[in-house]
Amino acid sequence: MTEEFDAIVIGTGQAGPALAVRLAGAGCETAIIERKRFGGTCVNVGCIPTKTLVASARAAWVARNAAAYGVAMDGAVRVDMPRVKARKDEIVAQSTNGVESWLRGTPNVTVIEGHARFESSRVVRVDGRQLTAPRIFINTGGRPTVPPIGGLADVDYLTSTSMMDVDFLPEHLIVVGGSYIGLEFAQMYRRFGSRVTIVEMTPRLISHEDEEVSQAVREILEAEGIGVRLNARCLAVERHANGIAVRVSCEEEPRTIVGSHLLLAVGRVPNTDDLGLDRAGIATDARGFIVVDDELATSVPGVWALGDVNGRGTFTHTSFNDYEIVAANLLDNEARRVSDRFPVYALFTDPPLARAGMTEREARASSRLVLVGRRAMARVGRARERGETKGFMQVLVDGETRKILGAAFLGIEADEAIHCIIDVMNAGAPYTAIRRAVHIHPTVSELIPTLLGELSPLQ
Ligand SMILES: Cc1cc2nc3c(=O)[nH]c(=O)nc-3n(C[C@H](O)[C@H](O)[C@H](O)COP(=O)(O)OP(=O)(O)OC[C@H]3O[C@@H](n4cnc5c(N)ncnc54)[C@H](O)[C@@H]3O)c2cc1C
Repeated sequence: MTEEFDAIVIGTGQAGPALAVRLAGAGCETAIIERKRFGGTCVNVGCIPTKTLVASARAAWVARNAAAYGVAMDGAVRVDMPRVKARKDEIVAQSTNGVESWLRGTPNVTVIEGHARFESSRVVRVDGRQLTAPRIFINTGGRPTVPPIGGLADVDYLTSTSMMDVDFLPEHLIVVGGSYIGLEFAQMYRRFGSRVTIVEMTPRLISHEDEEVSQAVREILEAEGIGVRLNARCLAVERHANGIAVRVSCEEEPRTIVGSHLLLAVGRVPNTDDLGLDRAGIATDARGFIVVDDELATSVPGVWALGDVNGRGTFTHTSFNDYEIVAANLLDNEARRVSDRFPVYALFTDPPLARAGMTEREARASSRLVLVGRRAMARVGRARERGETKGFMQVLVDGETRKILGAAFLGIEADEAIHCIIDVMNAGAPYTAIRRAVHIHPTVSELIPTLLGELSPLQ
């Protein structure tokens, strides 16, 4: 027997639950299907656990550096890894349970646990059950990529997901991948007390950032004793008496780095290969992402794809925004499009890097007249008071429209301060909208109007 619903949502990531509850509130009988843990990546193995671990790592860093603030600590600082993990698990459980009880407690929502697979464009199978609905929403997210590195089948390795089960201190963690996820783990484990080496295949860390940003982040990490090996080639791994040997070059010495543990952090793939998309006729691109239009509709009418699975964003906030776009178009008769949003994100190292809009490289390539404002964190009162003066703030402005094109803030409180810029950009206002604003002293944000008062042409 086929169970009939008004809507089916596959996956409880950052878009699915909110959408299911919204649809149910609009009177639609909605089924939502989850095969693992409620809340998906961000809640269970992504943002929430990593930022909880980053907080423990920062506590260790503050304790070790307490003397610089005139605080005496007797004895060595020791990190209790089982307790660090238990704290992370407690915080994750609150969120996971919150999502599950929210869904189960919402009238018109039917929660189904199991792996969903399309039988046709209107029918989804979950184990022995067959469901149908005129509207189906895919929010199945992604998982870590396991790259084809020689020898990988013969060694134990970790991914960002299995790192969540680690409750011990690796003696020497080798992190393959010098982008967001890899750098956050690298710094946190260094602060917990591990030796850490980052192995990156390209010539610099976070290689799609501007060179200046990559270099500054590298210096921050190296200053904490993290090893960085760039331009790694001929990658291969093998067992070693002391753990795992990672070949990083065929020519340059040292050709091999030996560590106790290996973390692969080289990107993510969408969860689309086991969804039966071919049976439904839903198109994917060469990398497996579901092809969607500007309103997130797939190639099959009546089926939408939201979140990481559509390749239009890789963040919690982009997935949630996908929900808002779909809900606005379907339920509020309000036209909203993906192309209306501009990129915003942060790298949660300490200090964090926050970015909005264009990089300097993109602004140059746009052949506009570009103005730039810049301020070193060493010239920000809040940063000096806190003794954390690394980094800088940079804002790029269109010299003709006076609108902000982009910003990169690297430094203490950067992830919060950037929202001054994000809000002005979203308002479609010129930078002068905050040029005369009175900001609170002493904060990082207080220097943003000052910085905008010191714009000069980008050389
Ligand atoms: C280590 C790490 C750190 C991160 N940190 C940040 C951060 O700080 N900020 C940020 O914005 N983003 C961060 N992200 C990214 C963020 O987690 C994702 O972008 C976000 O979770 C959006 O995912 P989603 O909504 O697409 O789906 P997901 O959260 O991936 O959820 C998809 C759900 O669908 C389920 N599912 C999959 N296939 C099926 C199926 N066939 N049947 C039933 N259920 C299925 C899965 O079990 C999962 O629960 C991080 C990611 C990682 C890995």
